[in-house]
Amino acid sequence: MEILICCFLLLFTLLTNFMRTAFAPPARYQWPHGKKCAVMLCFDVDGETTALSEDLELASRVTTMSQCEYGPNVGVPRLLGLLDHLSVPATFFVPSYIVEQHPKMTEAILEGGHELGSHGHLHEKLNTLTPEREAEVLDQSLEILERVVGYRPTGFRAPWFENNPGTADLLKSRGFRYNASQMGDDVPFVHPNGLVEIPGNWMLEDWEQFAFNADPAWGVLPEDCDKVYTLWHREYEAMRDFGCCFVLTLHPWLSGRPSRVRLLERLIGEILDEGDAWFARGESLADYVLTNPEARHEINFDALPA
Ligand SMILES: [Zn+2]
Repeated sequence: MEILICCFLLLFTLLTNFMRTAFAPPARYQWPHGKKCAVMLCFDVDGETTALSEDLELASRVTTMSQCEYGPNVGVPRLLGLLDHLSVPATFFVPSYIVEQHPKMTEAILEGGHELGSHGHLHEKLNTLTPEREAEVLDQSLEILERVVGYRPTGFRAPWFENNPGTADLLKSRGFRYNASQMGDDVPFVHPNGLVEIPGNWMLEDWEQFAFNADPAWGVLPEDCDKVYTLWHREYEAMRDFGCCFVLTLHPWLSGRPSRVRLLERLIGEILDEGDAWFARGESLADYVLTNPEARHEINFDALPA
């Protein structure tokens, strides 16, 4: 008798597990072309400013500087080749110091059909600047981009993802259409002043996975690419199911290394093969958000209409 009861309970458990459907909330956003989610590939080309924004004295530390230079010199050309091979667009946020140091690299980004975004001058942490200095740095960086490559960016990524309370208004006053620097959502939203925000997330950043330098001490332990593939692909699959915007933030001195280029080839190739994603540059995302205000599905209880 006890065996019969046990068998019945086991069968009941198996059946209820089989019959349970997956959690499927309404999509957070209606994306164009019937796609289930958006994908924005961001390359933050910090290069030498990775070290110099921490301490200008590091300019004499040849090995540390050379590791930073690997990004513009080796990582960017290789990653541009991968993007061309896969025919996907990307957004490159480049500090204007790097634009001055590497004008041909910057031109190659634009010639590849990618977007150039603003990323400070020397990768300044905005929370260390006064509002006046923050405006000066932004104006200086815009002047350099226009002078060196004749390009006026419409998108901004705050170095270190650090924003000040006045940053959104400053960007709007300088003609920017979007910021890609906050983390309070997993789909874009529009600031009260009309600036689009395309939120990111530390989990979808390569610094936490791959950065390491002995002295000064950066990062912890370079992770295995298979682990990182699983981490990012699992998040992509769930973000696709929930209709989100998958914003991946990569640094060419880290993700331009050969095994990580293979990781990106695998991840992007898989997403392309699945056919559910709209790969978009930040400016295309911002255009879509501004022209389709009804596309966003609000779930924040406190933001819902009464
Ligand atoms: Zn950066």
